[in-house]
Amino acid sequence: MTEQEMREWLDLGLKFHGHLCGGLPLGFRVGVAALEKLGVAREPDYDLAALVETGENHFAGCWADGIMLATGCTYGKGLIYKLFWGKFALTLIDKRTSRAIRVSVRPEVLEAALKAPFLNQRRAGVPPSKIAEEIARPMFERLITIPDDELLVLGEPFEFAWQPPAGTFDVMRCESCGELTVVRHMRVGPGGQRVCVGCAQSPFDYPRELALTRGPEFCQWPTPPKR
Ligand SMILES: [Zn+2]
Ligand SMILES: [Zn+2]
Repeated sequence: MTEQEMREWLDLGLKFHGHLCGGLPLGFRVGVAALEKLGVAREPDYDLAALVETGENHFAGCWADGIMLATGCTYGKGLIYKLFWGKFALTLIDKRTSRAIRVSVRPEVLEAALKAPFLNQRRAGVPPSKIAEEIARPMFERLITIPDDELLVLGEPFEFAWQPPAGTFDVMRCESCGELTVVRHMRVGPGGQRVCVGCAQSPFDYPRELALTRGPEFCQWPTPPKR
């Protein structure tokens, strides 16, 4: 991908993301590197999946938006999973070939970012959109222009077989609220009534085991490889 193409994508990403930060280009670069090493294109449909090792409410968590932008593995398509490990790595899976690649960010890059003025402002509680552009822009630019080998640790492709269940068009109305619900998400109540999770007395009283349909119909969380 050329720098010009990257900047066009990032313009779109910034509108979507909402503020200028380093996380967006960081995730974008990692996503592009993973696509290129796997030899696959940005996902138009459902064939790739992204496992992101970051969690929430910590620095650089924004990068998951950059990964979505680069790879097309969006939250809405159900192709991105957070693993909540608090680490800065992506495993990109190609479900067609059961091949995957893991890309992590070099610790030196993140350690330098933590010392940058942008992060000092964030640490002081300033929201990203309130940080002056002259403070935010250098980090953004640095993460666009830093060479891949200074930014990333790029693994070798490995086998990772994981298939989610097929897409479903199977729906019914909840017998309590009447709202249309995807059948494999519905629960069976004590009286045998078929209800949505929202109408179940408590979702915890109606675990997935009590769902109307069971087994492989569920979308199982992919099990990441041990590291
Ligand atoms: Zn951000
Ligand atoms: Zn309901």
